[in-house]
Amino acid sequence: MRILQQDQAALDLVGRGAAILIERAVAWSNLNSGSDNAAGLNDTLALLEAEAARLPAEVTRIPTAGFSSVGDDGAIRSQSRADALMIAARPEAPVQVVLTGHYDTVYPVDSAFQSVTARPDGALNGPGIADMKGGISVMLAALAAFETHPDRQGVGWTVLLSPDEEIGSPASAPLLAELGRRGHVGMTYEPALADGTLAGARKGSGNFHLVVTGRSAHAGRAFHEGANAIAGAAIVAAALHDLNGRREGVTVNVARISGGGALNVVADKAVVRFNVRVPDAQASTWITDAIAGIVAAPPFDGLTLTLHGGMTRAPKPMDASQTALFEAVRETGALLGQTIAWSPSGGVCEGNNLHAAGLPNIDTLGVRGGLIHSPEEFAWPDSFVERAQLSTLMLSKIASGEIDAARLKRLRMETL
Ligand SMILES: [Zn+2]
Repeated sequence: MRILQQDQAALDLVGRGAAILIERAVAWSNLNSGSDNAAGLNDTLALLEAEAARLPAEVTRIPTAGFSSVGDDGAIRSQSRADALMIAARPEAPVQVVLTGHYDTVYPVDSAFQSVTARPDGALNGPGIADMKGGISVMLAALAAFETHPDRQGVGWTVLLSPDEEIGSPASAPLLAELGRRGHVGMTYEPALADGTLAGARKGSGNFHLVVTGRSAHAGRAFHEGANAIAGAAIVAAALHDLNGRREGVTVNVARISGGGALNVVADKAVVRFNVRVPDAQASTWITDAIAGIVAAPPFDGLTLTLHGGMTRAPKPMDASQTALFEAVRETGALLGQTIAWSPSGGVCEGNNLHAAGLPNIDTLGVRGGLIHSPEEFAWPDSFVERAQLSTLMLSKIASGEIDAARLKRLRMETL
């Protein structure tokens, strides 16, 4: 592969937009869009929609699926989320690229971390600047440039911007699965590490909510008539924690126990929330069975255990399609003087969903940055153009056939 004249023209266009690329990501980051901030998500969606309207593509708001959650009182509540934004061009073209990102962040509306500032060393410090409002800016810039490329006609693309990635994509999962089936190559804009390293293999993840129901009683007058849900929850939490270290790469993190009340009341309700990570499908079955075994045997009489939730993102191993795609991206990066490396990650993202549905994908094509999910979250300003050019050249090489999207999809389907 080499950079052709028409490729260079698209790359130059990205370079000329450097200031806007950063400015709009800063503006988006200054608007809180925590996963539970419905108003903030809607406001952010409106800004993204306006920006997307500048592309020669069809922009549509897609309602996301409702889902249920377990309250701290053990009750099930149905929830809804903001719309997803879909942006699509040439859906009938023979090669389809799926680009995804999320516009929610982990910072709640009352977080102290609400705006972007520049660090003395020049890095931008802000909520979502790396994860992943910077990435969305990079994605849209690459698409705008690609839409000037003379080879674009053979490639159609669909963008999905979702409102719930940071809580496991419960509302967007069906949309991601549908796009994963339909596309040939996926590009997702989570941040790369500060040095540009991409996430290669990813573990799978599951979120569980175990409702422990006991029997309340007066702690003094009728203690033995009660069944203490808090004590039951503690015993079960310890049993879950004991699953750690039993199987390579499998972790169980008991994250929260809620329930109970007055000190003179035997608690009748508790909720144990935990997250599991697994390296492969077999480990996923193993841990699911182990959890079922614990749930099937309440630690003492009078307790009922009810499990909600499950595995939300399948593991994303470096299979043949992933290996071939990463090699193609390494070659593309080399043309731009960028060294592309990758390493395994325990983290999960929409790339897991897309892969599970049959889509080979790179999911860390966003800006270079770090310390995400903390008030120290940062992105390097010079990485915006750098990473948008990488995506632009990838799209150009998919269009020219030098990156063979149909072959990548075929490789993925062979191992599905
Ligand atoms: Zn993210």
